Amino acid sequence: MQLFERIAPLRAALKAHRLAGETIGVVPTMGYLHAGHLKLVERAAAENDRVVVTIFVNPTQFGPNEDLDAYPRDIESDLARLADFPVDYVFAPPVDEMYGRPMQAFVDLKPLGDILIGELRPGHFRGVATVVTKLFNIVQPDRAYFGEKDYQQLTIIRRMVADLEMPIEIVAVPTVRETDGLALSSRNVRLSSEDRAVATVLASALDEGEKVVAGGERDPATVLSAVRVIIEAEPRADLQSLDLRDAATLDAVDRIGDRPVVLLVTARFGEVLLIDQRVAARKSRSAQTGECA
Ligand code: AMP
Repeated sequence: MQLFERIAPLRAALKAHRLAGETIGVVPTMGYLHAGHLKLVERAAAENDRVVVTIFVNPTQFGPNEDLDAYPRDIESDLARLADFPVDYVFAPPVDEMYGRPMQAFVDLKPLGDILIGELRPGHFRGVATVVTKLFNIVQPDRAYFGEKDYQQLTIIRRMVADLEMPIEIVAVPTVRETDGLALSSRNVRLSSEDRAVATVLASALDEGEKVVAGGERDPATVLSAVRVIIEAEPRADLQSLDLRDAATLDAVDRIGDRPVVLLVTARFGEVLLIDQRVAARKSRSAQTGECA
């Protein structure tokens, strides 16, 4: 495994692999790696000849009052964790390598980047889409791996690649959870022990929402209130947003039909903003009645 902090030598190394006909998978991360990130790495290693993991806490996706400085970083332990996996290259550039001059070109998805989390965090997805484009242009991967946990991000990257004809397959990896259901996140270490204990409420509430949808409920408001009451019953959880959208497009849904929907939740526990999601679908009639399909 080789570590690069600069673009040019990484490009030179990857060019040799490309010329040899090898496929390249990239896993973009902000570091402080946990088992969720490592699942993406495993998947990339299984599906590509070469794997690049990028570690970059991207300043342009953090708002002025957000947690850029508090975001956890530990490159030494990240490298130690990755050493156990078949990773060929780690690209961990300093900020001046990625933003050496004031930027004038940006990638901005409208309205997809302005809704939901984009409304809570204005400019966030413009920062994400722009840095992912830069990373794609640096690595020129065949495949790129993203977690379903950041569901809107995944949807945005898929749409960006389609709209801009980027020749990259986007692979979605299901959310990896603690045994009690809490979605793994680099931010979890900043939770107080009291908040950590109750943060499982997000996953339990989503379980309930999934059940209500599977049971055939067609009214989004009914599903959302079943989820909301569970979260609001936990006084340490400060619910920021809760939405039900079409799982493929993130369009609003008036009535739940046969297309899968996604439940999206963001909540603060103290200073820490956690997000979680769940894709849910009505069970087919035969599944509901126990008939054979
Ligand atoms: P981050 O370092 O938080 O930017 O995450 C890097 C990538 O790992 C993103 O594609 C995330 O969606 C993904 N990821 C983060 N947490 C998890 C998790 N618990 N399970 C699966 N993927 C995750």
